[in-house]
Amino acid sequence: MIGKATEPQPATGALAGDPFEELAQRDELDGRLAWLINLRWIALSGVCLAVALAQGFRVVASPAALWAVLGAMLAFNFALYGMRRNHPDRALRALLAEGLLQIGLDIVGLGLLIFFSGGLSNPFVFFFTHHVVIAAILFDRRKAYGVAALTSGVVAFLALAEALPWLGSWPLEVELGFHPASLWERGGLALALILTLCFSAYLVTTIMEHLRRRGRDVRRLNADLADRVERLARAERKLKAEHQRARAILECMNEGVMVVDLHAKVLLANSAAQSSGVETLTDTLRRAGTLVAEPGSRGALHEPCVHEGADPRDDPEACEKGDPDECLHDALEQGGELCPSVLAMLGADPPAPPKALEAPQRPVRVDLESGGRSFENTVSAVRTPEGEAQGVVVVSREVTARRSLERQVRHAEKLHAVGRLAAGVAHELNTPLGTILGYAQMVLEDARAGRAAKEADLEAIESQTRRCRKIVQGMLDFARKTGGERERVAPERLLTKVAELTAHSLKLRGIELECAAPAEALPDVAVAPNELEQVLVNLVTNAADALETLEEAERARRGGGRVTLRAREAPQDAGVLLIVEDDGPGVPELLQRELFEPFFTTKPMGKGTGLGLSIARRIVEDHGGTLQLVPRADGRPGARFEVRLPAAGVRAEASPAAD
Ligand code: ADP
Repeated sequence: MIGKATEPQPATGALAGDPFEELAQRDELDGRLAWLINLRWIALSGVCLAVALAQGFRVVASPAALWAVLGAMLAFNFALYGMRRNHPDRALRALLAEGLLQIGLDIVGLGLLIFFSGGLSNPFVFFFTHHVVIAAILFDRRKAYGVAALTSGVVAFLALAEALPWLGSWPLEVELGFHPASLWERGGLALALILTLCFSAYLVTTIMEHLRRRGRDVRRLNADLADRVERLARAERKLKAEHQRARAILECMNEGVMVVDLHAKVLLANSAAQSSGVETLTDTLRRAGTLVAEPGSRGALHEPCVHEGADPRDDPEACEKGDPDECLHDALEQGGELCPSVLAMLGADPPAPPKALEAPQRPVRVDLESGGRSFENTVSAVRTPEGEAQGVVVVSREVTARRSLERQVRHAEKLHAVGRLAAGVAHELNTPLGTILGYAQMVLEDARAGRAAKEADLEAIESQTRRCRKIVQGMLDFARKTGGERERVAPERLLTKVAELTAHSLKLRGIELECAAPAEALPDVAVAPNELEQVLVNLVTNAADALETLEEAERARRGGGRVTLRAREAPQDAGVLLIVEDDGPGVPELLQRELFEPFFTTKPMGKGTGLGLSIARRIVEDHGGTLQLVPRADGRPGARFEVRLPAAGVRAEASPAAD
């Protein structure tokens, strides 16, 4: 392991125990032995030349012996060369043995060459140091000293050979400056040579050990680096696979998913999101209250400009001007600005774009209509584990089919209300129709008697007919399809309209409807009047139904039953409260939680659908308001429903998304 103190180990002595280290040592020794063979070819060529010259100049007495040694050494080198070619994959131990054999035979060969060419007086005697140096390069300290010892033995033998006449010697034919004559001189020379050999062995092995240690460290670093690179590559592959999987999952989602950073750069968008377009996204973010820089200004919604890691020269599209060279030229010649991608190419930090988005604290739901399609979008913050906002994610779900179904259900519910109002309307029509009939008969009598019809009679017929038409028109307006354009409406107008629609049927049921004028001037509300009327009619009808469940006596005690319609300014915010209150039994606490659930009803079969309040709440929320059941302010029994609507011109708080 890197960083761990390790005992220095000889590279080519005791095996490291690490298979990779052993392999590295083997390869190193193998290369050096090949180098040694090549070196030997050069050395033997040099020796051949030297022997030939020595023979030519009659320097040596017995050249034949030298040629014989040379021949043997050449043959030995050939054999080594051949063996290496035939057995290239030998183990470290075999290579060590071969190395020792090569060096040993070299020393013996050099010893013989020196022996037959003047012994210690031959200046080439210093070539022994080369062998020790080579051994120190090839082997560890122990083996290098062994080789130095062998060489010293050969040197000592040469000294002895000259000193002891029975060993014989082959002196040089010429004086070469130094010719040890006495035993002391020969001994001194041999000792100097042996010391040189030992010192060389020490010096070179020390240097080699140091180098080997460094080599080992480098190899370990390399191995560690390779391991890290491999792990990184694996992690990258895994990340890429995860990314692709996430991308594939995102792609097969029906919902559009788009991730935008705080500088309004679109980081990711699946196909469904791309199909709804940047404008829809901008609209969603604006409505969610997250957009702080409008499109068109720098930093507004844009596709990524700099592709991370890409050189704009390879991808000119990345440059805002399309061509990095032109961008540079403009900046230099005309003092124009460099686009962020070119700045990145030049190694400079591009200026941080202004913050364009504010991440919402809670997910915000934004409903959008675009091109005849309905979308339900949720804008949520993307945060780091520490809670720091990084951007926003917009999930967009197309709800066109559901909305259409909802509209149908709302309309059906409205027709249900129309049916319930019909009796009252029919009764209400009866009176003017009776009056019209009476006056028409009078006009007919006048006509039969040849008298001119009285103007007052005709006026009465006209005014009563108009009254009928107004009643029928009101009903028709109410029964119209739900939806429609939003318009500025005075809250009182809404209440009056609802009072007109419901008063007849309530009167028929013996219930008083009070529509109180607001005490203060109220701001207008921006609503689809038709939809809000449906909400209020449903609340009034429910109140009447509740009053009818009271015992006669109880109802009489409460003054026959009354439903009150009121409007007033909403406390604490710029909005309006529309209140529908009754003296009925109220809603038991147990039922209050289920009240707004679809299909919750306590009414008998055929009378209640259980959809009225859930639809009403949905309509009010679509207008950015709330519908709630609250306790009556005066503490009397009964129910009080409050519709809170934002004033026109005041941006409705985008509704928090349902969890
Ligand atoms: P439906 O009128 O078809 O039953 P709604 O959703 O309009 O459906 O009403 C659900 C239930 O809420 C009613 O069945 C009734 O029990 C209760 N409710 C609604 N308004 C009142 C009220 N003013 N007083 C008492 N209970 C009410």
